[in-house]
Amino acid sequence: SRQGPTKDFSMNVQIKPNDLAAFWMPFSANRQFKKAPRLFVEAKGVHYVTNDGRRVLDGTSGLWCVNAGHCRPKIIEAIKQQVETLDFAGAFQMGHTRAFEAANRLISIAPKGFEHVFFTNSGSESVETALKMAIAYHRAKGNGTKVRLIGRERGYHGVNFGGTSVGGIGGNRKMFGTLVGGVDHLRHTHDLSRNAFTRGEPEHGAELADDLERLVALHDASTIAAVIVEPVACSTGVLIPPKGYLKRLEAICRKHDILLIADEVITAFGRLGTAFGSDYFGISPDLITTAKAITNGTIPMGAVFVKSHIHDAFMNGPEWMIDFFHGYTYSGHPMACAAAIGTLDTFAEEGLLTRAAELAPYWGERVHALKGLPHVIDVRNIGLIGAVEFEPDPAQPGKRAYDRFVQAFEQGLLVRQTGDIIALSPPLIISKDEIDQLFDIFSKVLKNAS
Ligand code: PLP
Repeated sequence: SRQGPTKDFSMNVQIKPNDLAAFWMPFSANRQFKKAPRLFVEAKGVHYVTNDGRRVLDGTSGLWCVNAGHCRPKIIEAIKQQVETLDFAGAFQMGHTRAFEAANRLISIAPKGFEHVFFTNSGSESVETALKMAIAYHRAKGNGTKVRLIGRERGYHGVNFGGTSVGGIGGNRKMFGTLVGGVDHLRHTHDLSRNAFTRGEPEHGAELADDLERLVALHDASTIAAVIVEPVACSTGVLIPPKGYLKRLEAICRKHDILLIADEVITAFGRLGTAFGSDYFGISPDLITTAKAITNGTIPMGAVFVKSHIHDAFMNGPEWMIDFFHGYTYSGHPMACAAAIGTLDTFAEEGLLTRAAELAPYWGERVHALKGLPHVIDVRNIGLIGAVEFEPDPAQPGKRAYDRFVQAFEQGLLVRQTGDIIALSPPLIISKDEIDQLFDIFSKVLKNAS
């Protein structure tokens, strides 16, 4: 008969396979993981501690979310105080002061022109919210035929139906039927034949933005509501936009009255050395989707940043009527709002929103020193992000990078594997010494791997 857990899940405890059966882990190779689990029980600063007491350097900021490092006192205190004071209040026809405070604080660091915030609980929900907002906006303006959504190949916009549909990852789509209709995709911009081993933005490929003109010719602009792209497509392997690409895409959107949604779930909150990725690339989208580092990963939260012309288009009905028929029970949850405020305080006090810019030159040198190691066909960097791409082995797609991820973990370093690529994105508080430690471990793993 089945038994429950046999022991406490705490430090220095041997976990038995039966303890791991119940949790069907997301985006995981469950069978393999459960044979040789990697389990954390503590975290502090730039380190995790495993259940067998080993320190692991967090080379990925958790899942790209712990930008200020782990277990930061201001954020912990803000959450504690909040849960003792007001545990829950919704935001449907009522409210609580922390949500308004959090929204104002977020707007104070947002790119120019963003004056409103719509709260969600995750990146996926921010994406759904922005896509629905875009379609409803055009309808509110009397352009009810503008309903198509344009994503991009190799884009990742979360896992809900809209986000999966505009996303461009075959593996994430193929099991789930026809997905949402009326969606098309731009070509991706990743071109190692022209741009391998580039530092920062690649030189070649801005003209790929003109692909939007191809879709306009095919579908007509009168049917297209929005284009959604990540400034840097991180989850699919750190695909850095070619110089000028995003500005060119923005210009084509403007020409055809197509909204531009920047999915900044990863690039917002300092990852590139500016508050938002849109600041870094000098673009001014209509909507920005965020999540992850908004609470430094502590409490699930997302936010869509909205420009006034979008928001105001919804404010034309009778005042007593709901203006946007959309929202979540936990939109603007008190704990998440407190965590966001604590996070913004920590970012401000420690200058973390610009710290990646200070570290980027040193970081870039260390990333590019990986060139020439076995099977490495590209390395690239931007802000405090790096990626290494390995020569694909057609017989075992992704295996080479996966093996290196496992070996790095055994050597005390957490990296993120996606396909044949390994991404690096440590907390923004990392020191130069710790950057050295990260690359010392990682380069040794790459040297010794078969
Ligand atoms: N959009 C982008 C650009 C992301 O990188 C992610 C997650 O990595 C998401 C959306 C989905 O966020 P979540 O996992 O919080 O739903």
